[in-house]
Amino acid sequence: MQKTLALVAHDHKKADLIGWAKQHKAVLARHKLVATGTTGGLLSDALGLPVHKFKSGPLGGDQQIGALIAEGTLDALFFFWDPLNPAPHDPDVKALLRLCSVWNLPVACNEATADLMITSPLFEDTQHARKLPDYGK
Ligand code: PGA
Repeated sequence: MQKTLALVAHDHKKADLIGWAKQHKAVLARHKLVATGTTGGLLSDALGLPVHKFKSGPLGGDQQIGALIAEGTLDALFFFWDPLNPAPHDPDVKALLRLCSVWNLPVACNEATADLMITSPLFEDTQHARKLPDYGK
């Protein structure tokens, strides 16, 4: 089953994400890819795959991806954020990561975790569905 995957990398992490995505292109190619603006442009150039580009992160792209999570239309996030440099949109970054926990969404915040997530037998297992929290109770 095709999933919708979001990919985001801060400036100092973009090269790492591109290298990682090239390594996992075969899996990524089976899914719908979305990304923040600059990351998305670099990814589609490097992979030759269609990538839906939202606004650049500092201009609201992280929040657009957060909206997908809240609406239940995103399946996983690969977010190579930069722990060593302050970002002007730090509140958006925090909000995005918060929504991943609110909705129990798989999120990889570094390359090691991204490797494990995308190679997990559960990643493309059609029998596996993540548990969706029920906040109605
Ligand atoms: P960008 O945004 O892909 O447009 O650089 C990433 C971010 O800073 O969140």
